[in-house]
Formats: sequence, C-alpha cells, structure tokens
Amino acid sequence: MSRQLIGQGVARGIVIGRAHLLAPSELDIRQYHIQRGDVLHEVARLNNAFSLVRAELEQLRAHVAEDAPPEVKAFLDLHRMILDDSLLCDAPRDLVRTRLINAEWALTIQLEEVCRQFEAIEDPYFRSRSQDVRQVVERVLRRLAGGRPSPTALPPKPKDGERLILVAHDLAPADILHFREDASDTLAGFITELGGPTSHTMILARSLGLPAIVGVAEARTAIVEGDLLVVDSDEGRVLVQPDEQALTDYRRQILTQSQARSELRKLRGKLSRTKDGIPIELSANIEMPEDVRDALDAGADGVGLFRTEFLFMNRDQLPTEDEQFESYAKVARAMKGKPVVVRTLDIGADKVLNYAARQSLGLVRDGDGPGLKPNPALGLRAIRYCLAYPELFLTQLRAILRASTQGTVRILVPMLAHVHEIEQSLQFVARAKEQLKERRQKFDARVAVGGMIEVPAAALNLGPFIERLKFLSLGTNDLIQYALAIDRTDAAVAYLYEPLHPAVLQLIQQTIRSGAHAGLPVSVCGEMAGDLASVELLLGMGLRRFSMNPAQLLGVKQRLFELDSRVAARLAARVARLHDPLQIRAVLERAQRTDRAAAKRVRRKSTALAHSVGRRS
Ligand code: PEP
Ligand code: MG
Repeated sequence: MSRQLIGQGVARGIVIGRAHLLAPSELDIRQYHIQRGDVLHEVARLNNAFSLVRAELEQLRAHVAEDAPPEVKAFLDLHRMILDDSLLCDAPRDLVRTRLINAEWALTIQLEEVCRQFEAIEDPYFRSRSQDVRQVVERVLRRLAGGRPSPTALPPKPKDGERLILVAHDLAPADILHFREDASDTLAGFITELGGPTSHTMILARSLGLPAIVGVAEARTAIVEGDLLVVDSDEGRVLVQPDEQALTDYRRQILTQSQARSELRKLRGKLSRTKDGIPIELSANIEMPEDVRDALDAGADGVGLFRTEFLFMNRDQLPTEDEQFESYAKVARAMKGKPVVVRTLDIGADKVLNYAARQSLGLVRDGDGPGLKPNPALGLRAIRYCLAYPELFLTQLRAILRASTQGTVRILVPMLAHVHEIEQSLQFVARAKEQLKERRQKFDARVAVGGMIEVPAAALNLGPFIERLKFLSLGTNDLIQYALAIDRTDAAVAYLYEPLHPAVLQLIQQTIRSGAHAGLPVSVCGEMAGDLASVELLLGMGLRRFSMNPAQLLGVKQRLFELDSRVAARLAARVARLHDPLQIRAVLERAQRTDRAAAKRVRRKSTALAHSVGRRS
C-alpha cells in the first residue's frame, strides 16, 4: 500500500528511484534542559550510544575485504581513536552535569568546540580531520536518536538501471556542489525536511535538472533506506512504496513529459517574442562555468546572471585572479558576443566560504568564525562582504575586467541598498581598471556596471541607482525574503514566502516602470522569471528581459508565444487593484488556462487544415 507525503516542489518533473537517507546534521538535534534527577539517565544514554558506535566500528573493521585499500582500515582506526578521545567522550558528560542539558545538546556543543580547535590548526591535513570528528559524532547522534548505523556521506552506487533519491533533514549549497561533482549520474532527485523553494540549495538542485521537494516534515521517519519512491515535483508529492497501478500511471506521465520536452526543444532556434511581436530577451542563470553548455543548449540570448560565489565555495584556498579570469573568459568566449552578466561575489547567508578560506583573507572578524550567526541573511553578505575585504573584491573585479576582452561582459553588484555602496563599488571598479592599466593588461573600458535590486530600500529609492548604474536586475528571491521578513531557507516560514504579495508586486512594478522611464534596461533574474504562472504578469508590468535557470527557458518562450503584451498589461493593471495573493493567483491561473485552451484550439485547427489540404492534394 503506497503512502503519500506532501511538501513543496522546487523543480519540475517526476522521477522514480530508491531512497538514500543522509545522516542527520547537527541542525536537527533536539536541545532541552533537564532536571538534576535526570543527569544519570542522560549520561547513561551517552555511554550507551558511544558503546554502540564502538561496536559498530569494530564490526566494520572486522569485515573490511581482504583486497580493500589500506586507507579503509586506517580510516576506521582513526574514527575509533576520535571516539575514544576524552575531549569527545568525557567532556559531554561534564556538560550534561554542569549545564543540565540533554545528551544530544552536550555532544553538539563539544563537537563545535573540538572542530574549532581542529580548524585553527595550520597543517591542512589535520585541519580537514574536523570532518572525521563530525562523522563520528553523527554516528553517536544517530544512536542517541535510536537509529541505525549512519550511511556514508556520498550516496552509494545504486543497482543497474536504478537511480537514487536523497532524503535529508537539510542540505547546504555546498552539499549539492559536492553531489554535482561526484554523484550527478546516480542521483535522480532530492527530498528535504527543511528548506524553502528559493534557498540556494534548491536553486542548485534545479541547476542539476533534478526534481526536488522541500519541507517534507518527518521524511526521514516515514521513508526507510531503499524504499521505492516517486517524487512528483510538479505537485509537491512523494509516494512511498507505490503500488503497481500508481507506478504505471506515473511511468505514463514521465513519458508524456519527456515527449513535451522534445516538443519544446523545437523552439530552441526561434526568436523569442510575444504573439503581438514584442521581442523578449531570455537569458540563463548559471552557477559554474560548465553550466554555460546548458545555457547554449537552451538557446539563451545571454547569461543574465553568473553566480560567481560557487567558484569560491568548498575549497580552502580562494581562486586566484588568473583562475577566476579563466572561468569568466570561458563563459564569455562560449557565448560568442552575447552578453554575460557576471555578478560579483554574493557570499554570506547560506553561502559560506570554508573557514580556512576566510582565514586566508588575512582578517577573520569577530563573529565570522565557525558556528551559527543569529541572522546571516541580514549580516555581512554580498557587497557588504566585498567592501569589508577590499583585496578579495579588487581581485575579482580585475579578473572580470580582463575577461571583458573575450566577449560582452557586464558587472552586476548584489545587495546594494545605500548610495555610498553604489559609489564605493564604482570606485572599486575604477581602481581595478587603474591597476590593470599599470600592469598593461587589456580590458574593455566600457564594461557596464549594474546593480541588483533585491533589498526593498533599493526599490523604494531608485533615483541614485538610475543615475549611477547602467542596468538593473531584480533579484526577486531576496526581494521577497526582505520585503516579507521571512528567511528564504526556513521551512517553518516557507508558507509566508509569497511572490504575489501586493507589496512585492508594487516593488517590482515600480522598478520596471522607473527603469523604462529612464531608458535603463531592467531584468528579473530571480526564480519568478522562470515561473510560468508569473510570466504574463511580469510581461504586463513592462518587463522585456527575463533570466532564469536554463531548464525553464524554453517553457517560458512557449508561454510568451501565447501572450499578447496589451492583454498582459490589462491583466497587470487588474492585479494591481487586488490585495489578496490568493485572488491574484486565481486570476493568473485562469488567464493561463484560457490561453492554454486557445492554443490547443489553434493547434487542433491547423492539424485539421493540414489533413484536409493533404486529402485534397
Ligand atoms: C535573487 O535574490 O533573486 C537572486 C537572483 O540572487 P540569489 O538567488 O543568488 O540570491
Ligand atoms: Mg539575491
């Protein structure tokens, strides 16, 4: 009998695969105070969990295959040593006694302490051993939670013809990068208990072209390792151990979807325009230089957003100017003169640099060390980070400027809110140009510098942006997060993440209108640009430039062919008078349904015509 779980779909499509449960992260640890009388019980739970893991490791070691590489045994020995270290096994007991906290909480406090000590070690080999400490602690935490032994960090190789669906409490953007590199051919999709649909984790999942569902509460309780799953990302639904009938239905739907995708591919070479002939620029968002292939494959008019921060993540040393230049130049060359908008480093919030990389900046500020910050999305992020670390910023700007000789490159600065931030950014660009001149290195002196409009303060005070910048790009993901005061990565408030909130729509409308009035190009590069339900509204607001995940581009192009810009403008005017997002959504969906029915009628008529012409001739 199949069971059904509900969450929020974050990429389109349906997949069938086997569940692979990821080990719990420290984020899902229950933390609570205990009574003095419960101390012995908590300590006994700790002791028991440690003993079980000790036995687990011994058993694993005893079963290592004869021909296994020697590192396997060494690795298990190392974990056993870590487990027996008094810093890890004794200190949490003391914390339980002195702070009157539960075993899991004590263990995670001590984990952070030990990792801090490891991460301060100069030798990179020893420093990276903090990963082993985390893995050992995760084994113990799993035992404390009454679970089975932990799976390994990377998914195992599935059986022939099968693919895996990762089931995790939460995933960081860095995890997805890791899977992209090492397991992209074995993965079919993701399910997480936490996370919002526009978190960077899910934007990356989408860039893998994989269906994913977030906010599936209790997924790791309801799903067991190896369960057969259907992930229906279109409906935000997971089917656990589907019955034969359900499997047959879903296989049929997968086939229909793949036929629809082949149909869409026929639009690749067509110029993008509306039914009434208004040309629309459709560009691609990319995260890594190799993603440019997907952009070209989708027939994108350019790269509207290159999220460069992913070049800086998951590594202990920051990329050098030359390495960055190569990456940006590769994209510029591949796009053959089509515009490439390179966004300067948007690090911070959920996108973090490794600790060693931060240390290499020469200055690790108070509170910039490992561990959680209270409000990272409101902290030292994006342009704020770059202005705090001038060398980091200048190095990147020089690399982008140098790449401007290889194609049409533009610079986009994220998260601007203040006039002085715009001015400082422009001064940095000027300084980088001076430095290149001194070195006699070439660059295009006319490289356009634009700004992201993703903080409500910017959208409400556009004058200085319009005066000083050459183009604007609406980052709706953050604009929604900051306008509605909800963390886009937090599943608990994901239900409040409402792109159609009238306040958000006003900010978008105002930016598009002011840009058009001043003759300044405005694009939308947030997830809204690729959302089929929002396309008509954005078009009606006057938007003529959309940038999205390459996988969404042809669908949007098809939608635009159905739309008349004048009808869309009337729809936008109607929506502007509504105050309830639910009502707005209903209006947009009705318009979409009507267009779809009309398009079907036209297709049916032309097929009938073709048949009758065929019969006559
Ligand atoms: C946005 O905020 O909409 C955006 C495009 O930037 P990111 O998703 O990388 O924050
Ligand atoms: Mg943003």
